[in-house]
Amino acid sequence: MNINIKKAQKKKSKPDHTILGFGKYFTDHMFTMEYTEQAGWINPQTIPFDDMAMSPSTTVFHYAQSVFEGLKAYINNQNEVVLFRPYQNARRFQKSCLRMAMPTIPEDDFVKAISTLVKIDKDWIPTQEGTSLYIRPFMIAKDEILGVHPSKTYQFIIILSPVGHYYPKGIKPISISINPIYSRSFFGGTGDVKCAANYSISLLAQKEAKEKGFDQVLWLGGKEHNIITEVGAMNMMFVINNEIITPKLDGTILAGVTRDSVITLLREWGYTVIERDMTVDELIHHLMNKSVQEAFGTGTAATISPVGMIEYKGTHYLISENIGVLSKRIYDTLNMIKLKTGSVHPDWVHLV
Ligand code: PMP
Repeated sequence: MNINIKKAQKKKSKPDHTILGFGKYFTDHMFTMEYTEQAGWINPQTIPFDDMAMSPSTTVFHYAQSVFEGLKAYINNQNEVVLFRPYQNARRFQKSCLRMAMPTIPEDDFVKAISTLVKIDKDWIPTQEGTSLYIRPFMIAKDEILGVHPSKTYQFIIILSPVGHYYPKGIKPISISINPIYSRSFFGGTGDVKCAANYSISLLAQKEAKEKGFDQVLWLGGKEHNIITEVGAMNMMFVINNEIITPKLDGTILAGVTRDSVITLLREWGYTVIERDMTVDELIHHLMNKSVQEAFGTGTAATISPVGMIEYKGTHYLISENIGVLSKRIYDTLNMIKLKTGSVHPDWVHLV
């Protein structure tokens, strides 16, 4: 793939790292390429970041034929630009595309497009501790026709956003509410891919949890709507009797890159990690017995998000007011891997 590079004439001023937050600011350039059935992927290019004009009849607006990914670029201690396991995202993107009847992109092209864009906007990567450049590749259906069938034309775009420290005031465990009504996924559905629709159907439960004073939703799934699946947009792990239990990848759960990395590290450290179903009744039993030593979500945005309290049907179960020892060890190790290339798992770090 030969990428045509068009540089922006005027560069934007960069926001101070203290006000970055998440996904609010965008860099000077974006990557784009188009797909048609006849020509395949064409016109790969980086262009100045700009608005896009689209017909109101465009398929993506009506039927959400749209998939995306999320990963981060960092400046490591050797002043190199690195990505964390981008081929994992490339493969997951392919899986998402196939599930949504969309064309795939070869893994090498996916990573090359990201690397090229990140290099161009390298001076946008914030360097303060905990900050990074969030990378958002996505694909949308572009046919201009109202008909429920797969589009014949698509656009693949990558945008970049400098993001602040996820925990500017230090890591504070979150409170989560088990939602007994809504599902984010079901067998035969799309829970194991990153399609846009998964996130729009999660918003009402998230809004209701916020209104009740909780940070995130703990999603139930399974045929009886009684199996713990994910927390917000993160994978969930529990430390119970010194073993780590995490929901198995049963087709309703997104296979997180962080989840896989955490499981690998834990097993290397000698821990038993069990990937299995856990019913909400079993979890409540462990919470009542105080045998849940630690609980945390895993994901690219926060790396590790400790869970301090779980609410179910009006009862609050306290786990801890502080981050657990194991959660902290995982958090620190993953950050070290990203920033001190070569220390542990050099294979997880991709030089741009
Ligand atoms: N589950 C869901 C539903 C997600 O959206 C994400 C974020 N991509 C994750 C889990 C965590 O995945 P990762 O570790 O690859 O960021």
